Amino acid sequence: PSAGQITADMIEVLSKKSFPLCMQHLHQVLKREHHLKHGGRMQYGLFLKGIGMSLEEALKFWKTEFIKLIDGDKFDKQYAYNIRHNYGKEGKRADYTPYSCMKIIMSNAPGPGDSHGCPFRHTDAEMLKQKLRTNGLSKDAIEEVMTTTKRGHFQLACSKYFEYIHGGVTGDGDVPNFQHPNQYFEESQKRLNG
Ligand code: SF4
Repeated sequence: PSAGQITADMIEVLSKKSFPLCMQHLHQVLKREHHLKHGGRMQYGLFLKGIGMSLEEALKFWKTEFIKLIDGDKFDKQYAYNIRHNYGKEGKRADYTPYSCMKIIMSNAPGPGDSHGCPFRHTDAEMLKQKLRTNGLSKDAIEEVMTTTKRGHFQLACSKYFEYIHGGVTGDGDVPNFQHPNQYFEESQKRLNG
């Protein structure tokens, strides 16, 4: 791959370091269940396109997981089309844009068995707390993020989470106000890589 290109085998590490919770969750479910429902495939697939994964790598990435459960033939017939579609290679050949936070928070709320959505908006409070703990946030940090979430400021909660993950809040003025999961990713990479 050329410099700056995101390959399928880089995703595991990136998901731990630089993915917002919504995408980290989708990644974990995909790894665990070797499948994601349509809403999750759209949300996660377009995000991956947005961080710079090529169509070729995307096909490899999804196929590697899915064929742990179904055979390659079935994958090619049932799922490959949709991935090419997201890259504008099928159907109307439109170039589909990754979903913004607003879209993820406001539309198409996840039903039972779905994995898409925004964890700050759609995940049960106890489970969200647990996730924050697992990801290393202190008791005070969890408290702060949960309070912000309960007030309905989901994107601000995400931004505060980002600050804690990337070395601590340095004052309210410094908290980025994320509008987009891809913005979260880019900001994270900038912080980590200088
Ligand atoms: Fe994802 Fe946006 Fe929710 Fe953060 S606020 S978890 S980036 S949808």
